[in-house]
Amino acid sequence: QDLSGVDIAVVGIPFDGGTTYRPGARFAPRAIRSASCMNRNVHPTLGVHLYEKMSAIDYGDINCNPLNLKKTYEIIEKSYAELLKAKVIPVAMGGDHSVLYPILKAMKAAHGRFGLIQFDAHTDTADQAWGEKFHHGTPVRRLIEDGVLKGRDVVQIGIRGPLTSKDQMEWDAKQSITHLTIEELHEQGLKESIKTIRKKLDPKIPYYLSFDIDGIDPAYAPGTGTPVVGGLTSFEALQFVRGLAGLNFIGFDLVEVSPAYDHAEITSLLASALMFEFMTLAALD
Ligand code: MN
Ligand code: MN
Repeated sequence: QDLSGVDIAVVGIPFDGGTTYRPGARFAPRAIRSASCMNRNVHPTLGVHLYEKMSAIDYGDINCNPLNLKKTYEIIEKSYAELLKAKVIPVAMGGDHSVLYPILKAMKAAHGRFGLIQFDAHTDTADQAWGEKFHHGTPVRRLIEDGVLKGRDVVQIGIRGPLTSKDQMEWDAKQSITHLTIEELHEQGLKESIKTIRKKLDPKIPYYLSFDIDGIDPAYAPGTGTPVVGGLTSFEALQFVRGLAGLNFIGFDLVEVSPAYDHAEITSLLASALMFEFMTLAALD
């Protein structure tokens, strides 16, 4: 594909072979595309006209192999290498969160050291499930183990809910991963929470933003595979993302939307609105 002159590309990754509970995220790209027709051009609070600032395309869907996770990883990594070689900022719509692994491997090859800002109910640092090392609950652990990320460069927002074992918590602390739990967020309030997180970030390195829609409360985002009650509201999420303006972003994703569990497009509308925010962040830096 000719990517010359392209600044930003929306990329569909219709894959849910890494889900451990409700499947269906493979259908997210088409649902989010359909909801995105209400996104329009100009950011409401920042006044930026996105498409005057940059040239954006829909790259289409990556041709994932629904029967083979490892092969899908190779296909994703190859597509991303092509995008990054052309200096495009990819904004992905998953797919389940297992796709983070190949995406960030490609990011590392193109950019060297970078940090991860992750919105999620889960830390995605489990070691395995049913003996499997690669699924949507493990990508952050694998990426740190494989040297793609350093724990101290990882910031996770909205963490909550029960865990299978204490292992994950202890491992995260050992890696110096930063968590902003939903309890801490509510105790501090939104403004202070954004300040706390920004203080944690290293201004010298670029950042990748990964947004698992289950970071949002299921009341606002019911269409997802592994819902956890008591999360962020839609508005808190939009404001938090806006609060990250000015950082140097190398890519974004919005994962784990499962349209079959959605109602009245609540989840896909929010997903497409968040993607509009991501694109605005890319236009600002
Ligand atoms: Mn999650
Ligand atoms: Mn996740």
